[in-house]
Amino acid sequence: MPASVRRSLLFFAATSVVALGPAFAQRTQLKPGWNLFSPQQDVQVGKQAAGDAQRKLPMCNLPKADAYLTQLGKRLTDHLNTNGVEYPWEFHCVNDRSINAFALPGGYVFVNRGTIEAADNEAELAAVMAHELSHVALRHGTNQATKAQAAQAGVGIFGAIFGGSTGGALVTQLGSFTAGGVLLKYSRSAETQADVMGTQALYDSGYDPRAMAQFFEKLEQETKGKNPPEFFSDHPSPDHRVERVNEEIDKLGGIPANARRDSADFEAVKRQVMKLPVVKKGVPRADAGGSAPPGPPPAPSESMTAYQGSGLSLNYPANWKQLGGDENGAVFGPESGVVNDGSGHAALAYGLTIGSVMGQGTDSGGLESATQGLIKELQKTNPNMKVTRQAQSVKLNEQPALSTYLANDSPGGGKEADWIVTVARPDGMIYFVCTAPEGEFETYRKACGAVLASVRLR
Ligand SMILES: [Zn+2]
Repeated sequence: MPASVRRSLLFFAATSVVALGPAFAQRTQLKPGWNLFSPQQDVQVGKQAAGDAQRKLPMCNLPKADAYLTQLGKRLTDHLNTNGVEYPWEFHCVNDRSINAFALPGGYVFVNRGTIEAADNEAELAAVMAHELSHVALRHGTNQATKAQAAQAGVGIFGAIFGGSTGGALVTQLGSFTAGGVLLKYSRSAETQADVMGTQALYDSGYDPRAMAQFFEKLEQETKGKNPPEFFSDHPSPDHRVERVNEEIDKLGGIPANARRDSADFEAVKRQVMKLPVVKKGVPRADAGGSAPPGPPPAPSESMTAYQGSGLSLNYPANWKQLGGDENGAVFGPESGVVNDGSGHAALAYGLTIGSVMGQGTDSGGLESATQGLIKELQKTNPNMKVTRQAQSVKLNEQPALSTYLANDSPGGGKEADWIVTVARPDGMIYFVCTAPEGEFETYRKACGAVLASVRLR
């Protein structure tokens, strides 16, 4: 690892220790991550998707259930740290027996009847809702969208580094995303954050905070070896869930005396919801807009197709497509390499992303620091991204370049490998990111190598 990166990591570690040192019982402080959207855009995007969801999902149409969810939700949001943003919280009951719930950016919360039926008491339902509300407060939906945009065309990275105003374009593009798309697919680190903040909200609202881990653990135990609840497909279970929740409870000062666990209102609404007619599944869900066939895409073909961009030309495998791009970059990969998780959400799991970072002219020394800057920027939104092989000097179209290997979480689940090649240009740097799940990486590394060998810079 280059010295300057190591130094800044040490600095980071040191400040973290100082922050935690004196107050051992201090609650964890959480803040939203990198986001190209404003909180107002969260509301705009969420409202649109919520309207879509209400049209497409079977709703309970039970005013008492919606009123109860609203009352319970308000009790939690009154104690939720939104970093000063006021969201227009809305709560809806969905007539779907699968155990799931989702919250759209801006605070539009949908709770399946199945979740109410599976909860043994109000604290368990409050826990699911507190977890969802924390995703809203931490703005995980548009943070994910920001990341997907960055992965797609490098435009997000470009905007973040150079202050380009890309937010408006992103909203337009997101307008076509339906509920359950990129806005609702969370990483394990986002899950831990939602658990921790949700535990705080439960505690502050007078609920037994242990319900946070208990409900999810119960679901996992009950469904071992069977179909896991839908909840876990959007919310992958983080490691050490119970331990992390217990740790936070300790920081908060332990389980409060007289913590609320149940209410007559909850039991009454649960009985009502259980009497609702069951809506037959098979109607497409709001998030079933995906078109990618299941399974890995076909191996990259050896015959190539030519591409002419403004700053470079190259050849790419004939069975790949250009999946995106603008004046700053392009994305190539198999059509089904855009992982869709059945949602219309676009994150590249297989393929090659090309982007540019414009700035002052980059000499060979500058290339190293520009490459580090790019990797750091990627790591901000991919906290599990790690360098597995340090930058090594290579040549790209006779120009000095750097080759770095990384590991990361794959958007399709499991681990992926990334190979980043950066090359200096008179007006900045061009980068190539080759991505594939770990198990198939060698095949894709070869295909990307063939593409890189064909690159002609202008
Ligand atoms: Zn979650």
